[in-house]
Amino acid sequence: MLAELRGLNEECGVFGIWGDPNAAQIAYYGLHALQHRGQEGAGIVVTDGHSLQAVKGEGLVNEVFSAGKLDHLQGYGAVGHVRYATAGGGGIENVQPLLFRSTTGSLAIAHNGNLVNANHLKQHLERQGSIFQTSSDTEVLAHLIKKSGYSSFEKRAKNALSLLKGAFAFVMMTEDEMIVANDPNGLRPLSLGKLGDAWVVASETCAFDIIGAEVVRSVEPGEFLIINNDGLRVERFAFPAKRAICTMEYVYFSRPDSDIDGINIHTARKRLGKELAKEVQIDADVVTGVPDSSISAAIGFSETTGIPYELGLIKNRYVGRTFIQPSQDLRERGVKMKLSPVRQVVNGKRVVMVDDSIVRGTTSRRIVTMLKEAGATEVHVVISSPPIKNPCFYGIDTSSSEELIASSNSIEEIRELIGADSLTFLSVEGMVRAIGRTDEGPEAGHCLACFTGNYPTEIYGDTILPHQKELVR
Ligand code: SF4
Repeated sequence: MLAELRGLNEECGVFGIWGDPNAAQIAYYGLHALQHRGQEGAGIVVTDGHSLQAVKGEGLVNEVFSAGKLDHLQGYGAVGHVRYATAGGGGIENVQPLLFRSTTGSLAIAHNGNLVNANHLKQHLERQGSIFQTSSDTEVLAHLIKKSGYSSFEKRAKNALSLLKGAFAFVMMTEDEMIVANDPNGLRPLSLGKLGDAWVVASETCAFDIIGAEVVRSVEPGEFLIINNDGLRVERFAFPAKRAICTMEYVYFSRPDSDIDGINIHTARKRLGKELAKEVQIDADVVTGVPDSSISAAIGFSETTGIPYELGLIKNRYVGRTFIQPSQDLRERGVKMKLSPVRQVVNGKRVVMVDDSIVRGTTSRRIVTMLKEAGATEVHVVISSPPIKNPCFYGIDTSSSEELIASSNSIEEIRELIGADSLTFLSVEGMVRAIGRTDEGPEAGHCLACFTGNYPTEIYGDTILPHQKELVR
């Protein structure tokens, strides 16, 4: 579904390149490919070996880097970031990469994820005299690095990273090296690639395709990569814990042309649709998917059931940035602007509407209503993931569990609320099987916390809002 309409938002995308004289320009294109991961701010910091220069701003990548702005960024190493503001809220001060300057050198940090012990560490650091410039959890890492007693930057960074809990994919840069680190559970995706002699890292492999880079591999949980003019060195700051990649990356967040751990997102989504088709029996005339992220699952559902796939809903791509409007009312109005039914396709038909998830249910209700108003005689909603019942603490914007319709309603109640003729969710087992990861154990290397309530890390009290407490089992 459309991220901006539904209230399920990825927090960020990170990009890094080392060893190319056009580092800033390449980072710009990389960030473009990651734009779906965050539209509220973007930034690039570049090094020429002597100093770090930054351009950052609120808005889309092409708005922030309008003509001429990239010309100021000369160097062979760059770190970039696109931001969707959840932890710490919006504001220019929170746009990343965060840049810290001191007499011993500068440090740029780009972060995707959310630290569950950030407040705890922040209080501790403040008691020791630290003053924070931003409300972002990312700044905690810079203070921890600065306060660490080790002499070398690498040791200080490792020590600081080992104190963090939660989800983090970091790309950091000093004047003369880039450091890449992934949390011990590998909650957020992070890939390593090669562009000629240059090393590149990105939240998603689609950022490599756009710049012509090759995928080398995923950055492993607990890994600490040092990239400088001597090349790449692979070290660790922590032993890998149980792998727990965010399942919603496969279901919804990542772009269909990205791969995570060698599994293509479009192909995985098609399999989710096929699996769903095995779990439900529906008599219908057409299958349609909610654009863009549910199209692949709809195609898979159609292939298995034999019910023809049709373009029953289209997305109007040029309606402006209504998605940044925060109020529920405006979001709902945005649905009307962004999606339209194709009347000739759905009129007089029994329609299967495939979607990847239901968060609040308001968008689903509007789409069902829209299809019925366009003449659909029945609308059967099938969802290519299980009900989302629990909040996410790892960087996905479902922090308000009161808004999760499945946390307090049965499937039949949700069906009634959205006005569908039937409603089916994919089972957890079916979802894991369809994605096809081969890690050991029933969770197969997934984080499934928003579906099952089984969080892969400790959840610190300071990350739980009062109304979320009862939802954490
Ligand atoms: S709780 Fe859900 S959205 Fe959050 S990281 Fe886990 S699978 Fe992803």
